[in-house]
Amino acid sequence: MSIFIPNSETKLYGLLGKTLSHSISPSLHNNGFRDLGINAIYLMLETKDQGLEEYIDSLKNLGFDGWNVTIPHKESIIPYLNGFSSLARAAGAVNTVLNRKGRLTGYNTDVIGFQRQIEESGVKAKNKRAVVIGAGGAARAVIAAMVQLDLADITIINRTVENAEELAKLFREENSKQNFDFCSLDEQEYAEPLKAADLVVDTTPVGMYSNNIKNIVINPDYLHQEQLVIDLVYNPLKTKILKEAEKRGAQIGNGLPTLIYQAEASFKLWTQEMPPKKKWYQIAENAVQEIKAKAEEENEDEDN
Ligand code: NAP
Repeated sequence: MSIFIPNSETKLYGLLGKTLSHSISPSLHNNGFRDLGINAIYLMLETKDQGLEEYIDSLKNLGFDGWNVTIPHKESIIPYLNGFSSLARAAGAVNTVLNRKGRLTGYNTDVIGFQRQIEESGVKAKNKRAVVIGAGGAARAVIAAMVQLDLADITIINRTVENAEELAKLFREENSKQNFDFCSLDEQEYAEPLKAADLVVDTTPVGMYSNNIKNIVINPDYLHQEQLVIDLVYNPLKTKILKEAEKRGAQIGNGLPTLIYQAEASFKLWTQEMPPKKKWYQIAENAVQEIKAKAEEENEDEDN
């Protein structure tokens, strides 16, 4: 492959977030640009806790046409934007920004990505019950997608119960068709809703390589074969909760489809073109293998 050399016409995109070293997004988008002959580049835009407004001003001054947003800015970026898509408004979180001549519009393609993953799973979600574990930015997108999919009953389980309560209240105010409930990670509180759920989605980062992959936040004995269990984590591809769910006969899914579909929707928004999805899966799976090898190497170092 020939080396890409940016010039004065090169369009600038990137990923705005705090800790980005494990992100697969630059590989996906840059490969898509090269494959389709688009003169554009996608960069890591690593921020600190403070100074988000100045950072955004500088992206505008540098002429960035758009960027993705990740932890911890999906909600805190909202005051600095000029407009929102209906899905970003529904989720109360933004993962994609489009800069049209200095006017910034926020979108949430995580909602689109997760909705598509459910649709392609073959599971009929309409009027079903769900449990969402976690109450952060990813949970907001998942719940907004569940509203789009017409689920009937959604219970949010979270370590900090106040965050689950706040999220349930927020969605209740905007959606009268669904029943929104919440509880803590106390087994006595979550046992019933977890057993009764058709769809269980873990949106916490607990199963990731960078955390302790042996971790799981719920007792898996409430999972069963009538359920679809999804972990939004994709490194590793099969987290502890997915292994436990599979043992009990549940249908399982990792976060890779949502990742690819949200990236595809952002790419389309910026370029009006469709990226090579099949190739993107390969790139993402290779990247996951690299992350795994690195994690194993680090563990070995720690053992020595
Ligand atoms: P976030 O806003 O920081 O929220 C994290 C949530 O997980 C919070 O509710 C937090 O609970 C909970 N949590 C964190 N550590 C925990 C622990 N040790 N035990 C129990 N609960 C814990 O993060 P996010 O943006 O929602 O992202 C969460 C995960 O989803 C990340 O791993 C991210 O990579 C993944 N994700 C994947 C995709 C995809 O495309 N596949 C898209 C978006 C996000 P508290 O409220 O108590 O702090």
